[in-house]
Amino acid sequence: SLSTNSPKRRLRIGILDLVHKGPTRALWARLMHANLASIMPQVLAVWCEEAGHDVTFAVYTGLEDVETMLPDDVDLVFIGAFTQAAQLSYALSNMYRKRGAITVLGGPHARCYPEDSARYFDYVLGFTDRAILEQVLSEAAQHRPMGVMLAAKKQPTVMPSLEQRWKYVAPTLRKAISPIKMVPMLGSLGCPYTCSFCIDSEIEYQPFEFGQVSEDLRFLVRTMPNVWVGWHDPNFGVRFDEMLNAIEEAVPKGKLSFAAESSLSLLSEPRLKRLKEAGFVAMLPGVESWFSLGNKSKTGNRQGMEKVEQVSDHINMIMRYIPYVQANFVLGLDVDAGDEPFELTKQFLRRTPGAFPGYSLMSAFGEAAPLNLELQRAGRVLPFPFHFLNNNEAMNVKPKNYEWVDFYARIIDLTGFSFSPATMARRV
Ligand code: SF4
Repeated sequence: SLSTNSPKRRLRIGILDLVHKGPTRALWARLMHANLASIMPQVLAVWCEEAGHDVTFAVYTGLEDVETMLPDDVDLVFIGAFTQAAQLSYALSNMYRKRGAITVLGGPHARCYPEDSARYFDYVLGFTDRAILEQVLSEAAQHRPMGVMLAAKKQPTVMPSLEQRWKYVAPTLRKAISPIKMVPMLGSLGCPYTCSFCIDSEIEYQPFEFGQVSEDLRFLVRTMPNVWVGWHDPNFGVRFDEMLNAIEEAVPKGKLSFAAESSLSLLSEPRLKRLKEAGFVAMLPGVESWFSLGNKSKTGNRQGMEKVEQVSDHINMIMRYIPYVQANFVLGLDVDAGDEPFELTKQFLRRTPGAFPGYSLMSAFGEAAPLNLELQRAGRVLPFPFHFLNNNEAMNVKPKNYEWVDFYARIIDLTGFSFSPATMARRV
């Protein structure tokens, strides 16, 4: 067994990134799940190897046998999981502990539900930098029944280069049978906006070295041209000019395609021209609500139909430059009441036929967002089982201004409208 007296011991480390919560044969999973791999597990893998340990890295997309992805005799297992995969991660932790391993959980579930996770893992990691990792590696001890929760004050400011991560990125990309292969990259962390439902709203905006971004892109152009880069920045392009300079100087025209999430306030027409030239083909702006958050869509105090008109014009303009635009909405916010929010979204879709709507139901993931504690105190958070906590299909926050049946009836109606054959035909 491991001992704190032998910090230099070479460990057999397994790192498992759970992209999905269980077995599936769905076409979407085959096409896209491998494109949804996270960056931090790859970063940990690089850091663990640099610290002199043997690393086996695996991404579970739902298509593999998850029990056999890591060797049986690992000493230390890191699992990264979203909340939907929490129960799978707990079960895997139990399996590896029985085989004698120490287990560590990181990723969104660990950040949202650290106390619950600590019942099943020896270590639960919040923000993880090299110092936190070093602490785990040098101790690597059992902590049962309650695991230890560790977190750095902030996210790391320096990450390994894409070239260093490549040995973990490349095999994952080979799993995606889609013609779209998406390489995950980060240009920044945090966000200057303060949407109260968002996990990134309290994290200070912090760009990575723009020189490093260029270097990574040059490596990608040399190694695997014509792939997509999926920017994992919470809000892409806050330091717009520096970021675009970094892309333009590294990527010859047409060599890479890019997808990003960005606020409408950052997407003016001159910038869109530049984005198009640089190879941006998909943009996912967050509209969120017709009655609040005007700052991020540059609609100021405009609300209701006035905001619909302005946002619709803006998104139609974006679509002249970027072929795929997904407009994201949060349904069930406290500012919403009655028919109006739903009817306004339909109006928006009629006026903006090319935009693909993305609906998230207002959900409180543990302690992730500033609003969550308030909602818990008000008794509005349901103890929804993690396995089903998917903010596309169900929500765990009791809406302020709707009864459940009434609320879901409106969502079903809006979804039916949004994806009806007639609306879909207008979209393509
Ligand atoms: S703009 Fe987007 S990333 Fe920033 S706080 Fe709001 S929802 Fe989060």
